Amino acid sequence: MKYFILLILLISLSTVQAAIVCPDEHFPVKAHPRNAYSRQDGTQVRATNVKEQCRPYRKLTTPIPKFYASKPVEWPIPNEKFKEWTQGEEIELRQILGKLPKTLTHIGEIKFHRSNEKSPNPALSNSENKIIVIYDSISTHDKIRVIAHELAHFLWDSMNIDERDEYFKFAQWEKSKDKKTISLVRKDILIPDSFIGPHEDFSNNVELFLFQKQSLSKLPELTQYLEKIIQ
Ligand SMILES: [Zn+2]
Repeated sequence: MKYFILLILLISLSTVQAAIVCPDEHFPVKAHPRNAYSRQDGTQVRATNVKEQCRPYRKLTTPIPKFYASKPVEWPIPNEKFKEWTQGEEIELRQILGKLPKTLTHIGEIKFHRSNEKSPNPALSNSENKIIVIYDSISTHDKIRVIAHELAHFLWDSMNIDERDEYFKFAQWEKSKDKKTISLVRKDILIPDSFIGPHEDFSNNVELFLFQKQSLSKLPELTQYLEKIIQ
């Protein structure tokens, strides 16, 4: 009887993980909503829906920033207006990509769009199409930090189940017994929106690791893990 139950469990687990069949060198990502949330400084980040898809395992390829004046394809906000980039803005973003670790930046084409809307958000991103939308309010933020945060979302979305499990271990995210929910049990939470989910916590910790490393001093294992993966 036990074996029978185990078999059913194994079958149901494998069906959960293999929702779609992907070609070689690709792994499946199930559709999931990314919730809207507020950042620590009060800026609102809109919700997005990540579609079920096959993603290629990461290969490091030189970043190719592309600058668009148009609205991104399938952008979820219908009437949002976009504008041209200034030469200065383009140069600055290229310089930022040159300064950040290759793990974040070496992902080939990155599409930058310049919104003309007033928003407290410095940036929004969509990892499916590697799109980053920049708002005027980025001028009141540390630009390199904002870009690192969005690129860390791309990295998280490209991580497979085992890689994410490794993060859960070092960042102290615990799965419930039925593995359906996950909760943050770490004591040192430096940016409150980390509670939104591991994807946000991951981006926040990459940001802290790169720009405020001393703030992670009470988390040596997490720091060592980030040192290993962010190069
Ligand atoms: Zn984020």
